[in-house]
Amino acid sequence: MRFKKSKILYEQALRVLVGGVDSPVRAFRAVGGTPLFIRKAKGSRIWDEDGNSYIDYVCSWGPLILGAAYPNVVNAIRAQAAKGTSYGAPTKLETELAELIIDAFPSMEQLRFVNSGTEAAMSALRLARAYTKREKIVKFEGCYHGHADSFLVKGGSGMATFGVPDSAGVTRSAAADTFTVPYNNVEAVKTVFEESSDTIAAVIVEPVAGNMGMVPPKQSFLQALREITRKDGALLIFDEVITGFRVAHGGAQELFNIKPDLTCLGKIIGGGLPVAAYGGRAELMHLVSPLGPVYQAGTLSGNPLAMAAGIATLNELKRKGIYDKLEKRSAKLAGGILKASASTGSSVHLNRVGSMLGLYFTEQEVTDYATAKSTDTGKYRVFFHSMLKNGIYLPPSAFETIFVSTAHTDTDTTQTIRAVEKALRRIRAESEAS
Ligand SMILES: *Cc1c(COP(=O)(O)O)cnc(C)c1O
Repeated sequence: MRFKKSKILYEQALRVLVGGVDSPVRAFRAVGGTPLFIRKAKGSRIWDEDGNSYIDYVCSWGPLILGAAYPNVVNAIRAQAAKGTSYGAPTKLETELAELIIDAFPSMEQLRFVNSGTEAAMSALRLARAYTKREKIVKFEGCYHGHADSFLVKGGSGMATFGVPDSAGVTRSAAADTFTVPYNNVEAVKTVFEESSDTIAAVIVEPVAGNMGMVPPKQSFLQALREITRKDGALLIFDEVITGFRVAHGGAQELFNIKPDLTCLGKIIGGGLPVAAYGGRAELMHLVSPLGPVYQAGTLSGNPLAMAAGIATLNELKRKGIYDKLEKRSAKLAGGILKASASTGSSVHLNRVGSMLGLYFTEQEVTDYATAKSTDTGKYRVFFHSMLKNGIYLPPSAFETIFVSTAHTDTDTTQTIRAVEKALRRIRAESEAS
């Protein structure tokens, strides 16, 4: 396998694009080597500029639940493009996509489309602050809600602490409004609320955490968040940018039967184009401009091309049995990985919720950011490159979710498991040699 063209393209990109990329993890810093420049993708496969092909488990970081270039989605985009790509005026497409979403997410009576998950989370927070007339927020260590200032905050380990900025350029005052507590830790949330009751506008959570590998919520964690926030008068925001239409048709709130006050969606609802949304009860959403005082707008929001892709995607996802099929395929892959791990004597810990997998090189149960970080990133590096050489494209970081799509076939699964076994043997051999 050669990466000659990717290397040249990367060098060219480095001259004009910051770090050669438009989103940091794409740069392969966490695993080393040259990022692959992609020429095309179809179904479960992706091709780089050198002509190598791979089974793709990044799936554009979540959106491509139907696989790449799904025919109905491509046709919808093509048909709409011929009619114009943006008008800056309402279209019936926005209503249609909103109806498809609201049918699946009964907690959302109304919603607003935006262009990225970052915007959705940022706007939901602004709305929560306006509604509660409070300023603090609670987020969880290892959860990602886009790159708005309030969310780029790391907490001290253990007990909740006042946040310190996790990125240059974030003011201390923005960070000070964010409390960060460990995921799955109800006691820590209770403590924050005891110490700061009547000041917290919202708790924001990934109901299944997909940005520290993949960490499922413990039994009753989400229910506890619901009760604590309700009792204090704070809002509960589910950031379902990944989990929406992924872990179930109605997202994690359907899977775990919890009704948040506000929901953020993104990724899948745009069918591979830039779409996200936030929504909730009408009473809350009526605070947003033009009905209310919370300002939020977007030149390309509700973009017709993106709406068309979203509609085509969500219509496919209404098909009967589609989530069962995803579940079966993902279970088979997970089973194969665990078997390969056992047969090679590896210490792999695997989390799975539906078609989301989190793979860790650790002996520990992974339930929060601290345990996620116990993974051996050096081993992941070796694993990643071995998989790549065997035609499997995994996320280029040990802290990202592996996604299965409806386009992955039984043959893909078999090939992947075979590659996993090889990669684990290689890791074994390297650690014995050293
Ligand atoms: C990807 C992601 C975001 C940010 O979405 P962008 O479209 O990348 O801005 C927010 N929240 C979660 C849970 C995500 O996974």
